[in-house]
Parts: sequence; structure tokens; C-alpha cells
Amino acid sequence: MFIDTVVIYIASGNGGDGRVSFRREKFAPKGGPDGGNGGKGGDVIVVADPHMSTLLDFRYRQHYRAGHGQAGGTSNWTGKQGNDVVIRVPCGTLVRDAETGEVLADLTVAGQEVTLMRGGKGGRGNAAFATAINQAPRYAEPGQQGQERKVKLELKLIADVGLVGFPNAGKSTLIAALSAARPKIADYPFTTLVPNLGVVSLSDDPSRNAHFCIADIPGIIEGAHEGRGLGLQFLRHIERTQVLVFLLDPLAEISVQEQFSLLRRELTLYNSALDTKERIICINKADVLTNKERRVFSNVQFDGEKPVYIISGVSGERLDELKYAMWNTLAASRAMACAQL
Ligand code: GDP
Ligand code: MG
Repeated sequence: MFIDTVVIYIASGNGGDGRVSFRREKFAPKGGPDGGNGGKGGDVIVVADPHMSTLLDFRYRQHYRAGHGQAGGTSNWTGKQGNDVVIRVPCGTLVRDAETGEVLADLTVAGQEVTLMRGGKGGRGNAAFATAINQAPRYAEPGQQGQERKVKLELKLIADVGLVGFPNAGKSTLIAALSAARPKIADYPFTTLVPNLGVVSLSDDPSRNAHFCIADIPGIIEGAHEGRGLGLQFLRHIERTQVLVFLLDPLAEISVQEQFSLLRRELTLYNSALDTKERIICINKADVLTNKERRVFSNVQFDGEKPVYIISGVSGERLDELKYAMWNTLAASRAMACAQL
């Protein structure tokens, strides 16, 4: 499973100090105590946000601090409470204490809310300490300190877009070129090879939902469906993707059409449902193609599927276009999935 993790620092607010004060009125020179209580410090709260799908936003902000409570006032005024800090995370996020690994919250349902740390209590003002014996206490309580903690957010990522291609087609290079972040990947015990995963960000889109996950499936080779090579575990992962990008190598010994049909056959043999997924066809390594070759390649027929993107992971050629094609195909396939529900 692909796991994205990020460590953040959180702090709840200090409680405000209690106040020492005495009533002073024009005609009552010896008023009683009227020092108010301090306000409570703000809490640190996490909420599962259904519009988020990655932890990418946390790469830009790691510190979350709730507000402090205000000190108590005169005339029994209670200080204002500190503002809570609300941390929005994608559904499926696990929050752990970064030191001990203890699970503090497991956010599975949209809208689910967990208070990770409470703010310090406000101190009582001197009015609260008045008794029959001590009617004019000259002391008040200090506010309670907030807490600080390092927590780790963990999210199992499901790749939205799967990249299929033969070894050396340029999958790793393409993912690196497209992604804004490279999440950690859990160890696969049986192999030293791990799938590549990247979070692609449509940077000029202001909505923060404009990220998606792309994963390659290394070693799709003939026979992968039988468990040969390392295909099987990865094929299982690809089952959950919504869009498949076929990355074809114009420099390989087998023709791009043949690569396409071999890859499709491999996928179909494993699970025929894979062949019904939305597809995008790319011919990579455009940087080493002549203009004439590009024209020839762009007219290659892949069972009538169009358009074919002639791209380069190395030079970046047409990658923006591809990124948007992935995003739009993904959106269309999600809309269709919703309509079927
Ligand atoms: P993977 O096995 O599919 O992950 O392929 P890699 O990304 O590891 O790339 C395999 C080889 O192809 C490497 O030598 C890359 O430098 C080369 N390569 C990848 N993308 C391109 C490209 O766009 N243009 C050219 N000329 N070479 C590329
Ligand atoms: Mg690779």
C-alpha cells in the first residue's frame, strides 16, 4: 500500500490568568473581590474533509497553534477563550503521536472531528476564592499551560492514475517530472523494487482539490498475471485506479502498437475489468524523435483510440497538456462512477 506521511507540530492555547481585583464604587470604598477568571486556551481539532485527497498541503505548513485565553478582567469579567485551531485532513487519515506511535485519531468518515489536545484551563480570579473567612483574597490562579506535541499524519493513498508500460519506457522519469511530491511507499517484503508514486498538482488551479495520485506498476512483463516478476501485487493496486496511461517507447524493439496490445492483453488476463478503464495513450521520448517521426507516430492507429500524446518525460514536452488530460479524464470517470450509484 502506498502511504503518505507528514509530521506536524501542534500546540493548544494557554489558559488566561485569573485576575485580582476589588470593586471600587463611588459610595462603597471597600468593595468585595471582583477579579474574573481567565479564558480557556484554544483546542487543536482535526476534521476529515471529503474534498481533500492527499497530505500535500501539509508540506507547506507544519505548525498549528491554537490561541491563548485572555486574562480575567475586573467586574467579574471572564477572559475571552482562545481560538481553536482546526486541521483539515483527507478521509482515511491516521493521526499518531510522532514519538510513541500511539494512535490519537483515526478519521474515516467525512466530517468526523477529534479533539487532539485541549487548551489550558483559565485560572480562577480572586472573586472565586472569597469565603466567609477570607472575604478579600489577594490571589488568583494562573492559567494552565497549553500542550505541545509532534504528530504524524498517515494516509493510505489510492492511485487515481496508473501508468503502464514496459521496463525502460520512462515511467519513473515521467512520474518524477509530473509530481509535486513523492510520498513514502511502504516496504514490499518480497522485492527490492517498489512502485513509484507521485502526487500531481495542477498548480494554476486555485482549488486545493486539484491534486491526484499517479503510480507506476514496475515490471509489467508478459506473464505478470501469473505472478511472474513482481507484477501481481502491483496489478492489485492498479485495479483501484480510475484511469490508465499507456506509456509506449518508440525506441524499443517492439513497435508501439505491439507494446499497446501486449500491455492490454496482460492487464485483461489479470482482470478483464482493467480493459474497460479510461485510457490515455502516450508515446514517450519525443525529444529524440525527428519531426517526421513525430508525424508518423501521431498517426499510428491504436484500435481507433485518439488522441495520442507524443510527450517527453525528459524535456517536459506536452506534459502540461497530459496533466490536464489526466485530470479531465479522471473527473469524467468519477462523474460516471457517481452517476452509477
Ligand atoms: P521505467 O523503467 O519505465 O521506469 O523507465 P525510466 O524512467 O527508468 O527510464 C528508462 C530509460 O529511459 C532511462 O535511461 C531514461 O533516461 C530514459 N528516458 C526516460 N524518459 C525519457 C525521455 O522522455 N526521453 C529520452 N530520450 N529518454 C528517456
Ligand atoms: Mg522505473
